[in-house]
Parts: sequence; C-alpha cells; structure tokens
Amino acid sequence: MYMAAGERLMNIPGNDSDLREALLDVNTPTLLLVLASLTGDDKWLAPRFAPAPIEAPEGSLFPDDTGRYSDELTKEIHEAAVTIIGEVRDGQQMISAPPRLERFHRMLNFSTAETVDAGQVAMLMEETRFVDRDEQWRVDLMAATNAGKAQDFHAVIIGAGMSGLGIAAKLKSAGLRFTILEKNSQVGGTWYENRYPDCGVDTPNHFYSYSFHRNPGWSGYFSKRDELFAYFDDCADAFDVREQILFECEVEQATFDEASNSWQVSYRDTRGARCNLAANVVISAVGQLNRPALPDIQGLETFSGPMWHSARWQDDSLEGKKVGVIGTGCSSVQLLPKTAEQAQHSYVFQRTPHWVAPARDYYRPVEQGLLWALEHIPYYAEFHRARMILIFGDRSWPVVVGDPEWPDKALSMNEANHGMREALIGFIKEGLGDKNQYLEDCTPAFPVWGKRLIVDNGWYETLAREDVSLVTETIECITPEGIKLIDGRHIDLDVLILATGFQSNRLLTPMEVLGVEGRRLADVWGDSANAYKGTSVPGFPNLFCLYGPNTNIVHGGSIIYQIECQIHYTMQCITQMLDQSLQAIDVRAEINTAYNKRVQSLSRNLAWGHANVTSWYKNSAGEVVNNSPFSLQEFWATTHDVDLNDYRLLRQGSNG
Ligand code: NAP
Repeated sequence: MYMAAGERLMNIPGNDSDLREALLDVNTPTLLLVLASLTGDDKWLAPRFAPAPIEAPEGSLFPDDTGRYSDELTKEIHEAAVTIIGEVRDGQQMISAPPRLERFHRMLNFSTAETVDAGQVAMLMEETRFVDRDEQWRVDLMAATNAGKAQDFHAVIIGAGMSGLGIAAKLKSAGLRFTILEKNSQVGGTWYENRYPDCGVDTPNHFYSYSFHRNPGWSGYFSKRDELFAYFDDCADAFDVREQILFECEVEQATFDEASNSWQVSYRDTRGARCNLAANVVISAVGQLNRPALPDIQGLETFSGPMWHSARWQDDSLEGKKVGVIGTGCSSVQLLPKTAEQAQHSYVFQRTPHWVAPARDYYRPVEQGLLWALEHIPYYAEFHRARMILIFGDRSWPVVVGDPEWPDKALSMNEANHGMREALIGFIKEGLGDKNQYLEDCTPAFPVWGKRLIVDNGWYETLAREDVSLVTETIECITPEGIKLIDGRHIDLDVLILATGFQSNRLLTPMEVLGVEGRRLADVWGDSANAYKGTSVPGFPNLFCLYGPNTNIVHGGSIIYQIECQIHYTMQCITQMLDQSLQAIDVRAEINTAYNKRVQSLSRNLAWGHANVTSWYKNSAGEVVNNSPFSLQEFWATTHDVDLNDYRLLRQGSNG
C-alpha cells in the first residue's frame, strides 16, 4: 500500500515484541528524531544522545550513519522507543505536531552531527510534507475557481510518465480540467519502455518517489524496473487520473493561436485518425530520454542477425550466441552482467569509458524492521526521506565545482574530485583483477561526475570474465556478419545490442510546436534548447516544459525531486493566470536570455561542463543543454516562487 504524506497511520499493529524486533533494523539517529517529535520533548536531542559523524566507508554506497552508539545506549533508546511508541499504539499518548522550521533545523543538525544549511532545511520541510508546499497556490486557485474563473480552463499534458502523472495529480486535486495524451499503451514513460535485464534505478527509492505519494513498501533500496513501473501504474489510480489519459495517442503538432491566446494540439489516435484538442495551457511531460539514438555507423542496417536498442529490449535467447554490445553508459553497465551470463561470448564496444562507483549494497533488500517502521511508526518515513536526501543529494556538490586554484584541471575539478578519481582507479584495478591490461582503457580522461556516476553491479568483474572482451578499437562499419574495426579485424556476431543512448539534445522533437508568429520551436532551439527556469520558452506562451532544458541532475538526487520543483512553479503560474484573468503568459526574452547566460557560465565550471567530457548533455557547440547548473537546494529556491514581472501578460485585446 502506498501512503500519501500527511496520512500517518495511527493504527500501529502488533505488540511490544514486534516493535522491539523492528527497532533492530532502524537507524538510531532517525529514531531519536521520531521520539522527539512524538513527545515534543527535546531531551532526545541532548548531547548524551549525539551520534558519531556520518562516515563513508570505502566501497559502500551507503555511508555509515548509524551514530555508532554503544550497545548499552542503543538498548536504552530502544526501550524508551518501545514505551513511547507503545503508548501511542495503545492510545495513551497523543502525537505532537510536526516540528516547525527552527526545531527541524536543530533536529537535522543533531542527527547528522553536521551544520545543515538553512535553505536545505526549508526545502526538507516541504519534502517531508511537514509544510504543504501546495498551500502556496491552493488558496488562490480555489478562490479563482470558486469565482468561476476556471470554467473554460483546459490543459493538455503530453506524456503520462513521472512528470505527466505528477502534474496531473495536482490539476486533479485543484479540480481543473485536463487531458493527458500518451503515445504508449500504458503509463510510466521510461519505466514502461525500458525492460533490459537488471534495469533499475540508481537513486534510493525512498527519495525516488513523489513526496506526496510515498511508498513505504519498496523491496530494495534501488528497485528494479517492474517495481518502479508498478508504482507509477498505481499512481495513475491513486491520483484518479487514468480516465483523463488518452493512450496510444501521439502528439504531432501544437500551435499557439494569437487571436485566442490558446493552443490547438493535434494528435493521431489509436486508429491513426488525426484529432485536435484546444487547450489554454500545454504541459510537455515528454522527458529527455524517450527517443532511442541509433549509432551513426556505416552498414548498421545490413547486420543480418537480431539487433535491438537497449530501450526496445527483445527477449530472444542469447544462449550460445556471440553478442555485441555497443556503448558503455548506464544502460550497458546494467544489462551486461546478465547478458554475459547467457551469451557464449560478449564483446563490449567502448568509445569512451565511464566512471563506475562501488556499490556493494546495491542489491540490498530493505530490512523487514525498516519496512515495518516506514509503514507504522509515525514520523519515521518523513525523517528517513529527509536523511536520504541529505545523504544522497547535495553532499557531493562541492566535488563537482571547479576550484580556480586547483593545478590539475585537465583531469579533475578540485582536491576532493581528484581524491575520488584516485579511489575509483583503485576500484577499477580491484574489479579487473588479472585482466589489468584493461586498466588504461577503463580509466576515463575526464573528471569524476563529468557524467553521472554509474552505480556498479559487477561491471569490471564482468569485463574480467574469460568470455567477455572489451573492444576499444574504433568501429569502421557494421557488416551482415558482425563488426569491422579500423585496424582491419572483423568480429563475428550473432546478436547486436545498441546501448547507445537517446536523442537528448532535440527536446520535444519530433513534435512540431509552433508559437507566436508561427515560429517553430525546433528552429528556435536547434540543438541549444533553453528555457526560463527549465520551464518557460519566450514566444511560446502557456507552454510549460517539465524536465525541460537544463534540469537534469548528475551529482546525485532524484529526477522526481526536480520535476516536483517544476510542477510547483507551473501550478503557481496557472494559479496567477486564473486569479488575474490572464489568458496567457509569455516569458520575456531578455529575462530568459539573462537566466541562460548564467546557466551556461555556471555550467562551464562544473564537472559535466569540462572540456574533456563528450556526452548526451552537450550540444554540437559543447554547451550543456540538459543538466541543471544548480545544486538540488538551489534549483528548489530558483523555482520556488513565480514573479509575473518576468512574463508578458496576455489578455484579449491588450497584450504586453
Ligand atoms: P548514454 O549514457 O548516452 O550512453 C551511450 C553509450 O553509447 C556511450 O557509451 C556512447 O559512447 C556510446 N555510443 C553512442 N554512439 C556510439 C557510436 N556511434 N559508436 C560507439 N559508441 C557509441 O546512454 P544510456 O546508457 O542509455 O544512459 C542514458 C541516461 O539514462 C543515463 O545518463 C542516465 O541518466 C539514464 N539511465 C539511468 C539508469 C539508472 O538509473 N540506473 C539506467 C540507464 C540509464 P560515448 O560515451 O563515447 O559517447
């Protein structure tokens, strides 16, 4: 069962011994915050309960944040917890209200043994739902709808993946009319389409889920595709938006009509017929990684065996086959170990190596006691989420920012970044073992975090297998029988897997989006997509792009977090439009230009803007067009409040 935030279950099942057993799996610093919150008593934050600092043991994805208490003190805390939570269970103790900002800040400082930035705390108040961020727009939106200002409102959302479902949840809760057009036959977007072996997420699920629809039941810390798809599928029902989705309807064109300040959206329906929908607002929720990129290699189409892209997986048996895998990004790393287990021999064609991070607990299931605590102990899930965000979010930000004084700029950003490089090279050596001839080929010539750090699932150990070969020679062409390299060698293959990524620089294509004066978005952007706060594009009024340009994250964190920031921004825009009876808003070109100048200037000094990095984040001019130049905290602050002075306000007959 998924639990909407704010609906803490007060019916705590079981008895003291169930509770005692569950506590064995919970995090003690988090438990102390629970006790302080349940009782309202700060004695649980006293120095004698202060945890040891969080430490990151080498090779472990999870830092040691246990607090390292003595057995005696742990027992004392657990017994107190049994008493307090038991009293809540038995109705003898009322639960205190959630902490306010100042107390929450003290709590987080206490439980991390660090000084948490005040801005982070404000953000976490919302992520935990101790503060309902929707309050910022809900009251005004209700007033506008009650005054009949939303009667003719209709939004078209393009895509029913995690962005589309997220904004649909908000529009639905506000009682606004909307339609979702989805090209697939199911919801879930990327988690519907990608089914390659071992496909899964590399952000802890307790954070990779909507803040307003947590799932206490994730089976693993990093869930696999089927469980993720099931979560999003459940969301469509939990948000009550399935009826608004038109499946197998692919948008072809969206045209802004200046006479009515509204949009016409054309799509092909399930029978291939062309249909139109009028909309005041168009919300693009198409994602950045939904159009597979096939490699531009001569002879690709001549290969005579089965060939498929990682995002269009085919379940053909690989047993006894010679299998080629082109690409060494996240998809390839995830799918290779299972592929190699089946194939007679696997050949990995690498153009550039990626950094791969050790993660010995990647497959760790969520402990039974923790599952119980997340579902049944009031406040536990909130504090758990807050700590996950602190630990897996901006902690790595300082490592990605260039230090102007750092001498070794060719390979690293700063001292910490260099230290990580050294540690990861050690990890490569360890993983390759006797196949250390691959060491140089496996060591990237760009800084760590130049691309998203791949969470390891046995990559180097797989490359080290006798029946796996790493091929780094450039591919000359593909032949009917396999791959020819420029050194003249030919590698015979039965099956070819293209783990070659996505067409990411041409956002929103192949849709044709026509704005003011009929300008085509594809022409305006080329491969330099840019938008104000990643969301609004000048000349395209009332078009809101979720997971738009420069919103992707590399250094850590969950894309759902970014999307929620943009949903919040978009809901404010819609609210202010309705409240002020505006037909449309169009971000001012000079505001967008200034914003994006800053985006580019910041990006150049971040690991993924480094000159040695070639990636799907960069366009042909070497500019970063996909990634956010902000820490998670900064992106939250950037998108938190709408200022309509940034926009041209369009009303019938008086635009400007
Ligand atoms: P990707 O990161 O873009 O990797 C594509 C790979 O194909 C690269 O190694 C690239 O080499 C290679 N390639 C492309 N064209 C080639 C050509 N013509 N010849 C030889 N090699 C070629 O794609 P991806 O692995 O599908 O990952 C895309 C993104 O999806 C990731 O960055 C991540 O954000 C997301 N993802 C996440 C997860 C997860 O959460 N665990 C899993 C999968 C994907 P170069 O590096 O030299 O360009």
